[in-house]
Amino acid sequence: MKNRRNFLKALGALSALPLLSFVPERKKTPVRFKKGLVISTWNFGLKANAAAAQKFLDGGKAVDMVEAAGREMESDLTELSIGLGGLPDREGHTTLDACIMNHEGKAGSVCFLEQIMHPVSVARAIMEKTPHVILVGEGAQQFAVANGFPKDNYTNPAAEKAWQEWLIKSEYKPIINIENHDTIGILGQDADGNLSGACTTSGLAFKMRGRVGDSPIIGSGLYVDNKVGAATATGLGETILRSCSSFLIVELMRQGLHPQAACEEAIKRLVEINASILKVEDYQACFLACNLEGEVGAYSVHPGFTYAIWKDGKPEVLPSKSLLNG
Ligand code: ASP
Repeated sequence: MKNRRNFLKALGALSALPLLSFVPERKKTPVRFKKGLVISTWNFGLKANAAAAQKFLDGGKAVDMVEAAGREMESDLTELSIGLGGLPDREGHTTLDACIMNHEGKAGSVCFLEQIMHPVSVARAIMEKTPHVILVGEGAQQFAVANGFPKDNYTNPAAEKAWQEWLIKSEYKPIINIENHDTIGILGQDADGNLSGACTTSGLAFKMRGRVGDSPIIGSGLYVDNKVGAATATGLGETILRSCSSFLIVELMRQGLHPQAACEEAIKRLVEINASILKVEDYQACFLACNLEGEVGAYSVHPGFTYAIWKDGKPEVLPSKSLLNG
């Protein structure tokens, strides 16, 4: 009797909520863009996009495009924020995070991976060859080696030097300077209009050993829903992890928002969610999104975020709008 009373009470409370009123209907049936689209974070995305564009022109699928873009950046051993050339953790080890998601909703992710040149391809192998989504650390490295990815103990002299300089004060400040150029997040759309995404990074410089950011976490650093759109992120991973930002952006687009409006709303939510933990002046977070029609959105907390776009054969780097004005 008491249970029944509680049930009826709960039901009454539920029906009082305007549950459906804040889910706007989508206005039209989207027409998929099929002429080729790649967007990626920061100026260096231009080079990554060129690799993805080549895949598109060769008839590759979106997943091939975004993987090629990630590999292009991971192959650049002078790059201090991606791949084996990346800045190390505070103990001097470069540890890599990456993920990939395809148009079927399949995902693969690798975290805290050491001494492997192409984490994005390891993530793809996890997606395609295992029943799992995430492998980390030693196990991820074992899987990589067993699947033909050679171990490589390369150290970037510039990264080593920066670490030695950091060691003098050893100040642990997990704050991302708003000028910093980090992680590459890539979204691609192929000739069938299908979407995929990838993300690859060496993460926060001089982080605690074992720290993993948003970049390899499906829903935070990347999310793809081939019925709606895709989103990716860069910036201080902790702020993005707390907000599940990429999933949120895709859900906002599902409710009818343009990718630009979805990125703007997600930045506002991220700032709200992190308000009790960090001062907004002290971190940067940046989002990139696209929908099925090939419309694009970009937004960041602070100015300085740029993104590269390759659309219908045209490459460009564009500045993102931001919540604050410097
Ligand atoms: N999001 C990355 C991380 O927190 C770093 C970045 O994109 O700046 O690991």
